[in-house]
Amino acid sequence: MNKTPPVDLQTLLKQPTPDANGCFGPYGGQAVPPHLKAIMDDIAQAYLAIRQTTAYQDELMALYSHYVGRPSPIYHAKRLSAHCGGQAEIYLKREDLNHTGAHKINHALGEALLAKHMGKTKVIAETGAGQHGVAMATACALVGLPCEIHMGAVDIQKEHPNVTKMKILGATLISVETGTRTLKDAVDSAFEEYLKDPQNFFYAIGSVVGPHPFPMMVRDFQSIIGREAREQFLALKGALPDCVVACVGGGSNAMGMFSGFLTDLAVRLVGVEPSGRGLGLGEHAATLTYGKPGTMHGFHSYMLQDEAGEPQPVYSIASGLDYPSVGPEHSYLKDLGRAEYHAQDDAACLDAFMSLSRLEGIIPALESAHAIAWVMQAARDATPGTRFLVNLSGRGDKDADFVAERLGL
Ligand SMILES: *Cc1c(COP(=O)(O)O)cnc(C)c1O
Repeated sequence: MNKTPPVDLQTLLKQPTPDANGCFGPYGGQAVPPHLKAIMDDIAQAYLAIRQTTAYQDELMALYSHYVGRPSPIYHAKRLSAHCGGQAEIYLKREDLNHTGAHKINHALGEALLAKHMGKTKVIAETGAGQHGVAMATACALVGLPCEIHMGAVDIQKEHPNVTKMKILGATLISVETGTRTLKDAVDSAFEEYLKDPQNFFYAIGSVVGPHPFPMMVRDFQSIIGREAREQFLALKGALPDCVVACVGGGSNAMGMFSGFLTDLAVRLVGVEPSGRGLGLGEHAATLTYGKPGTMHGFHSYMLQDEAGEPQPVYSIASGLDYPSVGPEHSYLKDLGRAEYHAQDDAACLDAFMSLSRLEGIIPALESAHAIAWVMQAARDATPGTRFLVNLSGRGDKDADFVAERLGL
């Protein structure tokens, strides 16, 4: 961070975001046709009204405690800290201990409850690796709403355990046979279904991306992570962490964590993206690190794009991180110099995955292992006494077989 923050950064960050147009500085917004804009505005209005009500607030908070198991603990990873030279302290926010094993349940419950309070009759979602699909299927089973998950036929083959879970949970699975039969085609298919009856259907986006109000809503649902973490850390250490770290795919777990510390300017905020297996076209998904501003999927943000402005193909060993754009609030925080973004590759991710497993008995999701990888390097170079707080976004059950095979265990 060699940029001097503008004098009014603190004031700027205290203003509620996004603005009335759904923008975070120059990013975000609603890059959609007028009839869709009207629908998005309806959702925004309904959300802003419902979130004020105690009925909604109380129901969501009760589910967070009694169903998800919140607050998730903060854990001092002493053996990992010692392994990294011992001068720095590494703490983990254990979102991996949530029901269903990751942070995604936080926004899935928020969205499902919102759909119910709005009187919707069906929730529609797309899923790539199946994590968002399982979280939505879980939340819909709980609130008693039909759930329809669109998933590329190729992904259905690859992600068998998640497909089985969604079926057991009662979701209708739509196998998408168009295009490359992966995530992007699933988004198109889900959206097409949604447009058949947007009055009665609810489209549940799985990260802080898409047109306004989704980046705001999903951030608000995930902000429970940052609120808890700040309070817990103060209670535990009597001070704030020096540096807060999270992996960034679409950016929801990172935004949830960062939101708790935004105006604490002494706390360094670090997002970690996947540099995959190289920096060539289609070999990584480090959007904020190597992309430039552009528009896709209804919003403006940093984006990995070709000359024509089309999304580039992306890759990461962690399928939850391979998205060619990123939440608009992250783009804003990057330009302001409030948050910094770094990349870690597949090899570093695998090393962190094994280190956390063998030093702490915690098997992380491959997504979260990117954040661990960055902190393992940073801890070695840190001044003595530096305290890092890493958001452990999910557990690695889903990745265990893959890693074992890859490493020949
Ligand atoms: C989906 C997922 C991610 C990436 O999504 P974000 O919106 O960037 O948080 C990270 N970790 C886990 C465990 C996931 O399932």
